[in-house]
Amino acid sequence: MERVLESTLIRCPNAEFGCTKMVSNWKIPTHLKECTRSQCSCPALGCDYTGSYEDLYKHLFHFSSIHHVIFMFCTGFSCAENFDVRMNIKVKDKNKIYVKREFKKHLLFAVQCFSEADGVYITVSCIAPSAPEVGEFSYHLSYTVDGNAITHESTVKRLLELSSKRPEESYMRIPHSLLRGERLVMELCIKMLNKE
Ligand SMILES: [Zn+2]
Ligand SMILES: [Zn+2]
Repeated sequence: MERVLESTLIRCPNAEFGCTKMVSNWKIPTHLKECTRSQCSCPALGCDYTGSYEDLYKHLFHFSSIHHVIFMFCTGFSCAENFDVRMNIKVKDKNKIYVKREFKKHLLFAVQCFSEADGVYITVSCIAPSAPEVGEFSYHLSYTVDGNAITHESTVKRLLELSSKRPEESYMRIPHSLLRGERLVMELCIKMLNKE
């Protein structure tokens, strides 16, 4: 039986992008989620670039001036550091993405804001495969208005492509009654889990 399984080892579909792993046929879908060579999509509106998470990082670095104009604040940060996220919640859905670069591992974190009837939903994702090399992260978001704070803590989902739909879980919801004007300012902290 084991021999049969061994004989179904095939090359990772990302071989053309540099993955040298041989994977059992039935493990391919799992491997693709974890493969460091899996192709990630650029989150910028109107850009159809795809590349490995490290190439995408470089892509945003080199083209930050163009992408910045479109929608994002592509500056860097270090883990476990608090920083402010400022978003305009009145612009079109697809524009409501705020991207931060993480210096050490060359990762991109995206803060997305979705306007719904019952408030705005904020979520944080990392544009990368679920690979051990990438690591796992958690985030802490907080929004303060009139002395009241709304906070949310979740693990950061690692995605090859950002979703254009609001998440079903792991989000912070701010009711419209607690929003003040078009600008939303939140405090975000991203931490690495299980440090090696
Ligand atoms: Zn692979
Ligand atoms: Zn791009």
